[in-house]
Amino acid sequence: MKVFKFGGASVKDAEGVRNLKKIIDISGETNLIVVVSAMGKMTNHLEGIVSSYLGKNDDLGSQIMEFREYHHNIMLKLFSNQSHPVYNEVRKFYAKLENFLETNRSQKHAYVYDQVVCYGELISTTIVSAFLQDEGLNNSWLDVRSCIVTDANFRDAKVDWEKTQQRITENVSVKGITITQGFLGSDLENNFSTTLGREGSDYTAAIFAYCLNADSVTIWKDVPGVLNADPRYFGNTRLLHNISYTEAIELAFYGASVIHPKTLQPLQRKEIPLFVKSFLNPENAGTCVGKGVALNPDTSCFILKRDQVLISLSSLDFSFMMEDNISDIFRWLHEFKMKVELIQNSAISFSVCVDNKFNRLDDLLARLKERFKVSCNDGVTLYTVRHAKPSEIDALMENKTVLLKQEIHDTVQIVIKE
Ligand code: ADP
Ligand code: ASP
Ligand code: MG
Repeated sequence: MKVFKFGGASVKDAEGVRNLKKIIDISGETNLIVVVSAMGKMTNHLEGIVSSYLGKNDDLGSQIMEFREYHHNIMLKLFSNQSHPVYNEVRKFYAKLENFLETNRSQKHAYVYDQVVCYGELISTTIVSAFLQDEGLNNSWLDVRSCIVTDANFRDAKVDWEKTQQRITENVSVKGITITQGFLGSDLENNFSTTLGREGSDYTAAIFAYCLNADSVTIWKDVPGVLNADPRYFGNTRLLHNISYTEAIELAFYGASVIHPKTLQPLQRKEIPLFVKSFLNPENAGTCVGKGVALNPDTSCFILKRDQVLISLSSLDFSFMMEDNISDIFRWLHEFKMKVELIQNSAISFSVCVDNKFNRLDDLLARLKERFKVSCNDGVTLYTVRHAKPSEIDALMENKTVLLKQEIHDTVQIVIKE
């Protein structure tokens, strides 16, 4: 069996859902786990609903209406008969969401977030599953929360692999077509909905592939495959036909957002190939990520992360930046959920470039200022370049304010103030 994953862009409208069906048809696969994300930008929209709800903002009602209308318009184009049972199925999810918002008393943002945001995937998969069924593609809809078991670290939940393996083995058939949600899980203790981190549906596909020993995973994207740079920011990008797991792990880790970084290691462990293909041109080969294959073509790869934060610290008490200071700094970075991108230290200074994913920067800075002299540059851009020629690095830095540069093996990282 194989695993297919369709992201938000591929199912952003009715045409996208029809195209998904076409891709399954063309593939000729009959034993498939199909992992689907929320439609279009619905996860962002649900994030807005969470903020309005907790902030007691008047926009909440209209945001919920927009959420319903978005799906309703897609359904009207896929199911002309408005008494089709799918309308009722989806309505049940709206009712559950609204019931949660009315009865919940918790103000814990991350918990509320996961209980609300999960409806994006629950609804998208309900629509996709019903459409495939109508079109003669027999399938079963699976609530992924009954399979993927996590801890209760809401918004960034950690998978309990043993329990998940057990539940997938017990509940998921490798025969036929199963439609399920990306990104979601549920916590072991209370069975609350959890999420695996933004863009986590690629990871869900890898979890199923690992637990079911799939032949391959294909993630269908709006790009031809993995390119040597994000085409939104760079011209003349090149398609990477083949890359190794190790190369893909490095690229994803440094921020090539075409593959979620957690996707690759489970696949590598079982040597399950990952294909990254275009949902617009499904017959094209795309990129194959596999074991020990050489980077083809052999080219430099560029990764850009905007809106990062560079924090520079020095001690207030003449102490050196050694084990004691650095261990405290890392404890606080972890406590305030900063993603560390890059560190550099000398005897008396320590610089760290972080991604302020969970908006906890002010709390972190307040804590650091109790112990260190702190300077902070926010809104900086981090470039990571792999396999680059010196001339390419020079060209990148030309006319820019470089705050920090670091080179390790084949990877150059540069923090730039734009
Ligand atoms: P999904 O629909 O699965 O959520 P994403 O939008 O997360 O897909 O990923 C596809 C996007 O990733 C592309 O539109 C592209 O802008 C971006 N991207 C970033 N780095 C790369 C890269 N190296 N190669 C291809 N695409 C990239
Ligand atoms: N819908 C989620 C998100 O937008 C997960 C995903 O699409 O991978 O982050
Ligand atoms: Mg996405």
